[in-house]
Amino acid sequence: TKGSLHKSSKRCIVDHINEEDKDCIILFGSQTGNAQDFSEKLAKEGSTRFGLRTMVADLNDYGYESLFKFPAEKVAIFVLSSYGEGEPTDNAVEFYEFITEDCPPFSLGAHAEAPLQHMRYAAFGLGNSTYENFNTVARSVSASLQRHGARLVGDLGEGDDAQATTENSFITWKESLWEELGRAMALEERKSNFEPSFIITELQSPAETTYLGEGVGKKLMGARNHFIDFPGPNKPSIVTLLRSKELFRSPDRNCVHLELDLMGTGLSYQTGDHAAIWPINADCEVDRFLRVFGLWEKRHTSFSVSSAKPTIKIPLPKTTSYDTAVRYYLEIAGPISRQSLATLAEFASDKFQKDALLNLSKDPGHFHKIVTSQLLNLAQLIETIGPGNVICAVPFAVILECVKPLKPRYYSISSSSLIQKSSLSCTVVVDSVQLQGRDFKGVASNYLLALKNQQNKEQPDAQNLTCGLMGHLDKYNLNLAIHIRHSSFKPPADTSRPILMIGPGTGVAPFRAFVQERAAQFKAGHSVGNSILFFGCRKSSEDFIYQDEWQGLQKILAGAFKLYTAFSRDTERKVYVQHLLMQHAAEVCSLLLEQNGYLYVCGDSLMARDVHTVLRELLCKESKLSMPEVDGSLKSMRNSGRLQEDVW
Ligand code: FAD
Repeated sequence: TKGSLHKSSKRCIVDHINEEDKDCIILFGSQTGNAQDFSEKLAKEGSTRFGLRTMVADLNDYGYESLFKFPAEKVAIFVLSSYGEGEPTDNAVEFYEFITEDCPPFSLGAHAEAPLQHMRYAAFGLGNSTYENFNTVARSVSASLQRHGARLVGDLGEGDDAQATTENSFITWKESLWEELGRAMALEERKSNFEPSFIITELQSPAETTYLGEGVGKKLMGARNHFIDFPGPNKPSIVTLLRSKELFRSPDRNCVHLELDLMGTGLSYQTGDHAAIWPINADCEVDRFLRVFGLWEKRHTSFSVSSAKPTIKIPLPKTTSYDTAVRYYLEIAGPISRQSLATLAEFASDKFQKDALLNLSKDPGHFHKIVTSQLLNLAQLIETIGPGNVICAVPFAVILECVKPLKPRYYSISSSSLIQKSSLSCTVVVDSVQLQGRDFKGVASNYLLALKNQQNKEQPDAQNLTCGLMGHLDKYNLNLAIHIRHSSFKPPADTSRPILMIGPGTGVAPFRAFVQERAAQFKAGHSVGNSILFFGCRKSSEDFIYQDEWQGLQKILAGAFKLYTAFSRDTERKVYVQHLLMQHAAEVCSLLLEQNGYLYVCGDSLMARDVHTVLRELLCKESKLSMPEVDGSLKSMRNSGRLQEDVW
């Protein structure tokens, strides 16, 4: 916590940059990999285009007490995501707390007034403007650096996920940064030749250590268990799907309830935590990608991968096959980056293909029309461009740089750790969108749907729901790779405090856990405060999830649990949870302002923003407080943990 930092035992950032003889260090604060990806692209461009000696660094890997010794002729670039309510990403927490202190504990020798007076830096923030605290992390870090004397080069860049313009803003920001840095560091632009960051060596026969997806897609085979190999700080564990079922009664939408066995895995969780599930790409997309990039014939060939520079992290197991790499490790179905298209264009042998890729990379409007609005992935785009539907000459090392690592997806745990100690539940709505002539299918939610269908021996592929995923999975293998992300979204420690929960759709997931827990505490003789849940969905007959369970919990908790529901498509006028809040304004106001109750909001960020707006209005009206006073109350509730949001 602030003010309690001891001298860090981590490696000194300044020593490292000097030892490596670099002149530009790019430090990232990344949760889902976007900030890291931008950092790596920036480093690469700096070195190939301007001959800068760049390195990329994870903020979590260093100590910052000697930052005041940062050499004046070098530059530090910060690429920082703001997460949730303007919080730093997990890997940036320590640095953030250090630098935003009034007097960061720099080691001896720092100039008291302006310890960072020699330091020059640039910064780009990744945020989402639907949150009140937009890009707080980049803004606060930049303000703190300047307060301690550091000089900002160029402007503070800001990307906005809500407008889906992050990449465009990043490209504009980095171009003006190169101009400024070019002047400040006397850089000369040179004709760049792509230098791959990875070295791929194909093996004649698979090595003993070749990882082929054991444990996840394929059955564990005795000792081969130890090959389970995911790079990065959050090593997942393999868990088994105990039970699963469909929660919707809808002809065309799915929502899956999953129970995962934690026995023997060493994993544990607390009510309110998140499960991070590492998905597998669908068969049809793996096949498409391998064909489009000319890897189909050699898909089972093993190769080893190493990085060209020690500072570059390898996103794959060290020895694996093309099929495994594409299936388990690359975000092959995710959004395409415009910058990657420019790189791929360098390797396209066909002139038409090359021009089309370059065009798309340069023109954001054209890119949006052809790619983003159609939710096309890279292989689908290349198929669309033609001719021949393949792009064969791209080395796999280049592909590794153009396609992001496959990221785990987070799910709010929908069981109480008090009741389900050795297993956890998740509640997953399946992301499936009909576009003209084809379906878009979210990677993880459709993977989980496939596992559910497999477990229950259902035959979904009449509708090709799972895109052929089940074909690859070993028949009765119900293993998944997961890790737990601990969160601060927690029910009050004092069970007698009243709670108000707002969770439409699968936003209700953690509240199933909260109410289950309260019912168990009540049965055990604890005094349990009132619990009010606002739930909303489309139709009571289709997507009113856990309906039976709520009734059971109401019986146990009697009057101490109320459920208010809004079914937007059952009524002529669409009613959402925000409207319900207004209808129960007096009760909401009394619970929050008179009974010192807790308020929890979970679900998508647009809903959370609307709820916030309605809440301010209703509190103002009911309590007769002025708007600034209401804002003050909400702020102090947030600061004291009485207002918590779990928003995505
Ligand atoms: P993805 O493949 O990741 O696609 C998701 C979206 O990305 C698409 O709808 C589309 O908008 C965009 N996209 C994907 N590919 C492309 C492309 N090629 N081009 C353009 N756009 C593209 N969900 C739940 O159901 N239940 C929960 O309890 C829950 N809790 C969460 C808690 C947290 C803290 C967070 C961060 C998220 C939570 N989510 C939850 C959301 C969940 O993590 C996933 O985002 C969701 O399931 C979709 O994942 P997916 O892999 O199926 O879809």
